[in-house]
Amino acid sequence: MPQNARERLVRAGRLHWAHWLVIVLSFGLTLFAWRYSDAEHEKRTAQGFEQQSKQIVELIIDRMRKYEDALWAGTAVIHVFGDEISFHDWERYANSIQIESKYPGINGIGVIHALEADEVEAYLAEQRRDRPEYRIHPEHGGNEYYPISYIIPVANNGKAVGLDMAHETNRFTAAKKARDTGLAQITGPITLVQDALKTPGFLFYAPFYAGGPSGGVEDRTGNFLGMVYAPFLVSTLMEGVLSQERRLVGVKISDGAEILYDENKPDAPYFDDHPLFDDTFTLPMYGRDWTLNIRSTAAFRSTYGDSQPVQILIGGILIDFVLIGLFLLLRQTARDALRYADGMTAELEERTRDLEQLNEDLARSNQELDEFAHIASHDLKEPLRGIRNYATFLLEDYEDKLDDDGQSKLKTLTSLSDRLAGFIDDLLQFSRVGREDIEFIQVDVKELVAGIVETLMPWLESQGATVEISGDLPSVPCHAVYVGQVFRNLITNGVKYNECDEKRIVVGCEPNGAEGPVFYVRDNGIGIHEKHRDIVFRIFKRLHARDRFGGGTGAGLTVTKKIVERHGGRLWMDSVVGEGTTFYFTLGTEEGER
Ligand code: ADP
Repeated sequence: MPQNARERLVRAGRLHWAHWLVIVLSFGLTLFAWRYSDAEHEKRTAQGFEQQSKQIVELIIDRMRKYEDALWAGTAVIHVFGDEISFHDWERYANSIQIESKYPGINGIGVIHALEADEVEAYLAEQRRDRPEYRIHPEHGGNEYYPISYIIPVANNGKAVGLDMAHETNRFTAAKKARDTGLAQITGPITLVQDALKTPGFLFYAPFYAGGPSGGVEDRTGNFLGMVYAPFLVSTLMEGVLSQERRLVGVKISDGAEILYDENKPDAPYFDDHPLFDDTFTLPMYGRDWTLNIRSTAAFRSTYGDSQPVQILIGGILIDFVLIGLFLLLRQTARDALRYADGMTAELEERTRDLEQLNEDLARSNQELDEFAHIASHDLKEPLRGIRNYATFLLEDYEDKLDDDGQSKLKTLTSLSDRLAGFIDDLLQFSRVGREDIEFIQVDVKELVAGIVETLMPWLESQGATVEISGDLPSVPCHAVYVGQVFRNLITNGVKYNECDEKRIVVGCEPNGAEGPVFYVRDNGIGIHEKHRDIVFRIFKRLHARDRFGGGTGAGLTVTKKIVERHGGRLWMDSVVGEGTTFYFTLGTEEGER
């Protein structure tokens, strides 16, 4: 393989820098798309968590507000009844607000009265009128009593009736705070007496006063009558607040060190060992500070744990590899193509060499043929001339001794010899055109044609023919004698093969084409049928009987064509039978001549 072909193959084997650029860009783009979609995903997930947390906090606050409203409504009802309310009236109020359906999570709604030690007797007497078994419990050493007077529904709150809020710190502290502030308050974590399971709970108080909660702390302490209250089990409350179905976050509520509610335990549904988000914050809640810990769940992970960024990364890398594969394939194809092209070039070169050799052989054999034709015809000429001479002598010297038949045969012999001589002359001319070197000189073709027409004039007139030179004929480098012969042959043929009374020949030239000027000789003769258009160029080939259109050897067009081709030109015709023929020829461009 030649050196440069090998170098080309090596070069085709390497990836082009543009390929590398595309691959690097593609990888860069993949990484960018991955990073971008990952960041977007993180942002979306954080927003999702924030929204879920906010929703839970809002739900808790809303629910507590609703309960607070129910408590304040209770205090309003008590005011309507003149700051004192009977068990039955309270029961009617409590039933009317439909605790179970409208306040899910609330255990009941009740009334607590505030008593000094000296008021206890009268209070008990009053309560025992309707409920003889009513008692205040448990006993304690204080001199303030905050017993639960009523709690509706009674059925599941029986144990709470008569329970004294002053007996236990959490209950008592919140009660006093409600009393002094005039605001709804909740207690710290407690266990409800009515809860057999002893789960965490709290009480929600709304204080009521004789004449309303106006004035300062002292006025409120003096006018304090009691509280409307609701006990809560935190678990029931949260169930009412939050639907457990496919929760995306879990919540844990603590009050100080005590856990009120906890969904973030390993056994909780959708618990996530390694949560995506875990947030702890304080929520002020009616006098208490609740600590909320919100964690994302496994459901959150499956909802937001989008694999899109990873898919983008994997997809992008796959595309990159396909790209590399394609480039490698292209590279291989380029190598194959080059190898094939190199093979083809070598084969082409070999074929060209063969053709050149063949051409040379052909030219040599053509020349040898021309040589042979020349020698043969030259050598034939002499004996033929002798034969003709002897035939003439015989005719002249033995005219009276020969009968008519003998004389006629001798005449035929003479004319046959003449014809044969004509053939030999034509053959000689044909071979001369092939053998001789053609010398090109600049020839004014118009002048050349005009000269030929002039020499032919007597014959043309005898034939009733005219020759018109149409437009300008250029001056071209050529062999004047040979080209003159081309015009002479074509003009005489145009007149010979013509049955018109006025035989018209037009000689002209068309504008230069790629092959140089195109000369033409047009006649209004008999035309040449399409099927004869090749035959007429064969040597000694005639289309008509000798007695029609006069004599001729049938070598004229053959010699004409050979002259044109030796100039590097081309000869062709256009003919309509019965209308005429136009012969066209070029004499080659300078390139062709060389
Ligand atoms: P010839 O010596 O017979 O004229 P050519 O080679 O010149 O030989 O022509 C060959 C044959 O082509 C002629 O015999 C004739 O039949 C036909 N031919 C040549 N020129 C014309 C023409 N201008 N119109 C019609 N037929 C033609």
